[in-house]
Amino acid sequence: MVCRADGYYAQFCVDVNRREVLEPTQKTIGLDVGLNHFYTDSQGGVVENPRYLRKSERKLKKLQRKVSKRKKGSANRRKAVKRLARKHLKVSRQRKDFAVKTARCVVRSNDLIAYEDLKVRNMVKNHKLAKSISDASWSMFRDWVEYFARVFGKVTVAVPPHYTSQNCSTCGTLVKKALSTRTHICKCGCLLDRDHNAALNILALGLSRVGHTQTHYACGEIDKSQVDASLLGKLSH
Ligand SMILES: [Zn+2]
Repeated sequence: MVCRADGYYAQFCVDVNRREVLEPTQKTIGLDVGLNHFYTDSQGGVVENPRYLRKSERKLKKLQRKVSKRKKGSANRRKAVKRLARKHLKVSRQRKDFAVKTARCVVRSNDLIAYEDLKVRNMVKNHKLAKSISDASWSMFRDWVEYFARVFGKVTVAVPPHYTSQNCSTCGTLVKKALSTRTHICKCGCLLDRDHNAALNILALGLSRVGHTQTHYACGEIDKSQVDASLLGKLSH
């Protein structure tokens, strides 16, 4: 039994070795996480942070302020703490729900999913709340992507998060830009949304990490057994 802010729950553990076979999609995808969007992918698609989550997070902050305003030891404070705990639980369930659905969808629709290894980026200290919320949701999402990749026999690659937004995804030239610059414009003629350019770089890095297999993807000849044996063998730790 597990105790939560809104009651007791019985916990069950299932699906430890769950496996499902899917036809290869012959698609690969790179994901760039941002503060403005949940992620932007290498095809230019954007997944937004859901409105209900943003709303819940604002409410959570409000309740947090209320608790700190109440006198310590008072009945009002106890009540405020209880409300905060319940809201906290609701938000974390909403976050998980969103992470699971989004991860399942992106894994089912692609054979290889590349993203930045943000555990590296986390070492750079950042105290902004919005940033820490986004990092927390992202790392939960990443865990689910890796889980579903195991279930559906797909490949995930975490690439080092260096220069992914600065380099040109077409010609490789370093195009320096401030965080506020939202567009990538290169002399080679490449003009892309900043995050779309980053997602393309992330995908290219991911493909280069799995080596020769990228030619199979490029030619569109994908042999499931080959992918499973060579890619999964290479990537399983
Ligand atoms: Zn270029």
